[in-house]
Amino acid sequence: MPASPHSLASRRHWVFDMDGTLTVAMHDFAAIRRALGIRDDEDILAHIAALPDAEARAKRAWLLEHERELALAAQPAAGSAELLRGLVARGCRVGILTRNLHELALLTLAAIGVADCFDPVDVLGREDAPPKPDPAGLHHLASRWAVSPGELVMVGDYAYDLACARAAGAAAVLVNLPSNPWPELTDWHFDDCLRLHAALA
Ligand SMILES: [Mg+2]
Repeated sequence: MPASPHSLASRRHWVFDMDGTLTVAMHDFAAIRRALGIRDDEDILAHIAALPDAEARAKRAWLLEHERELALAAQPAAGSAELLRGLVARGCRVGILTRNLHELALLTLAAIGVADCFDPVDVLGREDAPPKPDPAGLHHLASRWAVSPGELVMVGDYAYDLACARAAGAAAVLVNLPSNPWPELTDWHFDDCLRLHAALA
């Protein structure tokens, strides 16, 4: 832990992963890999991107339909709405950096009742920025908000989110896991958004 919760509370620019961070994790990546014939050790998006056009198009269409159903059925993760509303009430900027599609991210945020917390241009989907752990999405939001990437907080539930934060020099916050598998990538770890929200009070 390189810093105290106090310095997290003073941060004004917050970027969230969406699936599994603001929502209850529903993506069954093993089932998606099985349906699309992708090996367990392969990145799904990278695999599809490397396919011939027709096959890539068919697999993207399948993934879109599957993810649209998940978006419509999304459930909020514990405390995520309270955390977002608390940040917005304090005048913080909030954004999303997701490997999901922009359109489906907006659907998901509406389904969990927090779409009004976000300016849609601050919701970066997989067509808006290179996928995490590439830090380009964080750089983009930092530049939109006219702050340095080091002033951002990135909140997520997976190693990609933390590595992305690290690469940008942002604060890396892990939520929604009972123990932390990636301590070397993490600045703060909370059991869930409710605990994170409480730590900021
Ligand atoms: Mg996630």
